[in-house]
Amino acid sequence: MGVFDKEMRRVVIRRDQLREASRFLGTLLHELEHAASGHGDGTLEFEDALTERMGIVAQLLVMASFNEGHDGHTHLKSEDQAETPRVLVCGGFPV
Ligand SMILES: [Zn+2]
Repeated sequence: MGVFDKEMRRVVIRRDQLREASRFLGTLLHELEHAASGHGDGTLEFEDALTERMGIVAQLLVMASFNEGHDGHTHLKSEDQAETPRVLVCGGFPV
């Protein structure tokens, strides 16, 4: 579990998410998408943004598997996002 703190421009991820890389990375991508899209949980807008992001990640993985570069137009960060949030791992907070 994690949270994007809009005011502090940071992502906080509960420490137990570190037990599995896939869990941590999934949570990280989820929270970064909140930061990039500005949309909240349970909205179609967030679902669409996250789906698009998963497509970008999958595309990068396919390209990497073929040892190819990309065209420079694929970004993990929204182009209109001026600042990447900090990522913190904490011992635990209510979720
Ligand atoms: Zn969320």
